[in-house]
Amino acid sequence: MIKFLDIQKITSSYEPELSESVKKVIDSGWYLQGEQVALFEKEYATFIGTGNCIGTANGLDALRLILKAYIQLGIMEQGDEVIVPANTYIASILAITDNGLVPVLVEPDENTYNLNLSLVEQHITKKTKAIMVVHLYGQICWNKDIRELADKYQLKIVEDNAQAAGAMSVSSVRSGALGDAAAHSFYPGKNLGALGDGGAVTTNDSELATVIRALGNYGSIQKYVNDYQGLNSRLDEMHATILRVKLKKLDDDNMHRREIAQFYMNHIQNTDVKLPLVDGSAQVNDQLGHVWHLFVIRHRKRDLLQKYLADKQIQTLIHYPIPPHQQKAYPQLNHLTYPITEMIHREVLSLPISQVMTIDEAKIVASAINTFNLSVHC
Ligand SMILES: *Cc1c(COP(=O)(O)O)cnc(C)c1O
Repeated sequence: MIKFLDIQKITSSYEPELSESVKKVIDSGWYLQGEQVALFEKEYATFIGTGNCIGTANGLDALRLILKAYIQLGIMEQGDEVIVPANTYIASILAITDNGLVPVLVEPDENTYNLNLSLVEQHITKKTKAIMVVHLYGQICWNKDIRELADKYQLKIVEDNAQAAGAMSVSSVRSGALGDAAAHSFYPGKNLGALGDGGAVTTNDSELATVIRALGNYGSIQKYVNDYQGLNSRLDEMHATILRVKLKKLDDDNMHRREIAQFYMNHIQNTDVKLPLVDGSAQVNDQLGHVWHLFVIRHRKRDLLQKYLADKQIQTLIHYPIPPHQQKAYPQLNHLTYPITEMIHREVLSLPISQVMTIDEAKIVASAINTFNLSVHC
């Protein structure tokens, strides 16, 4: 059986340091707003390359808090528009609507699956206040024009970096330090995963950071003095210490994912399968802009391929089966059509990949895909 993601094996790859660090927190008797969170925030800010990092309870809250802080600062107000890819995990959009802002969905590029940056300008209106870029599947979504565009129309760039922890752009800036503020998720399945929920905001904007920190702490900077109507959304000491242990290995872990991805690229030879395209090249090992949170292929008989692999004891997942604009939660978006987004949702399949997966396992997956034959199996 090849698991999609062997979380247990991932966790044990950090032992015994992981359990030792947790034990220290248990024994310390201090579980919130302590030394471990302060140290993690400092180390993660340094790793990402921003002046500030604020731990949050999860990635969705990190996104929500960024937008809430912009509203609090008078930079945005209810009814303003945020441009966001139509092809993303629902959380990107939930953060926008939760703040009374309006998501304006834009089609992705059909090769990278990331927001098609050349379509952004035509969607900008007087109400547009931000562009949310999502580094989907672990690949950076960025080019030099996007900053110029944001400056021209005075827009904020918010990065949803939930899937791309550790990715490095061609200009050697990490995702999370490219835009004005970025949200990170430490959900267990993410590249930098906690053993439960966790998240963070990174930003170079110190004023924004101060407001976000207060908003995540009941709206309070000084205990029992409340400047804002905030939330309770904090990273705790236990998770901070776990993340500190795992952060040290993140670059190595991501490099291992690149090796698995490269193996798939070299060995999946089925003409009905569309492999991922990275900066127009199939050479992935030296491409630091992709951390391979997911290795996503496309096949027009995706469901049959998934079943075929399941019969061979290979677990795969679909990211994602229903696009946000077709979800019941968003009746106001249901009348819209996004052909590229919809095609992606019909055809994508995520293969097993992780920092602990072996090349032998990847070999089994690649061979199985190569023996899937449309004329025989469909
Ligand atoms: C995981 C994820 C989130 C939300 O993060 P949580 O920590 O699960 O709340 C947001 N956006 C994207 C693209 C994600 O993959």
